[in-house]
Amino acid sequence: IAPDDSLVHALRRVVAEAPDRTFLAYFDGRLTYREIDELSDSVAGHLAARGLERGDRVAILLQNSPHFVIALLGAWKAGATVVPVNPMYKSGEVTHVLRDGEVAALICSDRAWESYLRETAADSPVRIVLTGCELDFQTRDDARVLAFERLPQAADADDLAAVARAGHRAPEGRDPDPSGIALISYTSGTSGAPKGATNTHGNIMCNAERQRTGLALPDAPVYYALAPLFHITGMVCQLGACLNSAGTLVLTYRFEAGVVLEAFAEHRPHYTVGPSTAFMALAAHPDVTREHFSSFVNISSGGAPLPPALVEKFRAGFGPYIRNGYGLTECTAPCASVPPQLEAPVDPVSGTLAVGLPGPQTVVRIVDDKGAEVPFGEQGEILVRGPQVVPGYWRRPEATAETFPDGELRTGDIGFMDAQGWLYVVDRKKDMINASGFKVWPREVEDVLYTHPAVREAAVVGVPDGYRGETVKAYISLRPGADTDPDELAVYCKERLAAYKYPRQVEILPDLPKTASGKILRRELRSRRQNEQ
Ligand code: ATP
Repeated sequence: IAPDDSLVHALRRVVAEAPDRTFLAYFDGRLTYREIDELSDSVAGHLAARGLERGDRVAILLQNSPHFVIALLGAWKAGATVVPVNPMYKSGEVTHVLRDGEVAALICSDRAWESYLRETAADSPVRIVLTGCELDFQTRDDARVLAFERLPQAADADDLAAVARAGHRAPEGRDPDPSGIALISYTSGTSGAPKGATNTHGNIMCNAERQRTGLALPDAPVYYALAPLFHITGMVCQLGACLNSAGTLVLTYRFEAGVVLEAFAEHRPHYTVGPSTAFMALAAHPDVTREHFSSFVNISSGGAPLPPALVEKFRAGFGPYIRNGYGLTECTAPCASVPPQLEAPVDPVSGTLAVGLPGPQTVVRIVDDKGAEVPFGEQGEILVRGPQVVPGYWRRPEATAETFPDGELRTGDIGFMDAQGWLYVVDRKKDMINASGFKVWPREVEDVLYTHPAVREAAVVGVPDGYRGETVKAYISLRPGADTDPDELAVYCKERLAAYKYPRQVEILPDLPKTASGKILRRELRSRRQNEQ
């Protein structure tokens, strides 16, 4: 990473070379690199004029819209650290983030400001508020996607669109440097209260550059933003990689399978990355055809387990091979991925699909409970060291020392490596089920369930059992029109798994609970079970 590199510098490079290239496509609207540069300059100038100082925190709570990108680049040009906030967060969760991040400015939709954020922010350090309507750059059938209209501009907030179009100049001398904190990314909390990982500009550039060089995409590639931009995968592997490749990013507000397929047909993207659940939803949509995927050079799945059965069903049904990738917020999205010329092997014993090969300059080690490295093929905790690993958690010295001893990231994931260097993720350490003293990893059972033609989504958890201590329970959602029942699914697993592994309880739900980034929330299913008792 060059000492002066960041996505702000990458933007300036593209503006110098191809200012009129489309940067963002949003429904019928298009914005060029030059326009985004000017609009974000103006936001930066406004924030600085309102007293925002270098290093202050700016929270952005927006969906995948041009506003998000303009706010993000504007805040960085003002020298700020950005706190991306999940728009699905409830008031208490937002309060936690605003206070924990000691946030000075908040940029959100006027709808969210009116409905709950005004009250929420009143009890926080926020002193500058910019609100906007994410429809400003959208012209087609707004109501189809979002059944609401622009609200009148609130008296106690500045109008984001007006600020962006006011032509302010960005302040001098605030350019980011690679060691500066670009983001405080609150983990989505599948493992407890959200902690803020401090992704530096250098961390982001490292993975944005790997995505640029490692995907074999054509010049001026078209990216489709399947993952939300507030999540590290969307931010780095879509927005960051696209900007760093001088490409076009197609945005469609938030995930809705029918809208996504229309955007594929219209914009003919070369690349997208999202959680495996998004591909499951696309594959189950009644309108989907092979043609929808014919423009893709590459497709990646990241941030959540990728069942091998989905990869095969997808290839057979639609053509593309879905590439696995493994990462965490704490390593700024991917640390291992499948290079474009290769396919990930499946472990013959467990049936697990490899997540990839560690990236350049990235060292992955597998260690036992005592911290000693284990031989190839043996399971242990995955540790990662590399230029994408964050320096620590925001204002949490103890959690930082525990998770990043000596700068190496303890992922909390159990995995193994084969003799060729392929990494396999078995499961999260804390998700292990202990059935009569036997270890059961939910992933292995879920992978079998995904081979059943009726299964759309599967999540396996341990539930208390008087006899075994814990027993295996599967929650399932079905593909449209599928016909099966819990007993049939249990028998299907019993025929394919050791006796202690198959789910003794199966429950069918219309949908499984997920995070906004698309991960299935096993924690919520476990607590659902406790509430039922
Ligand atoms: P929290 O850290 O609070 O639990 P989270 O799950 O959303 O929230 P992320 O950083 O988004 O945090 O997710 C990282 C985790 O996702 C990894 O630790 C791993 O368990 C899982 N994961 C990521 N990629 C893969 C993959 N390809 N296969 C299996 N699991 C994956």
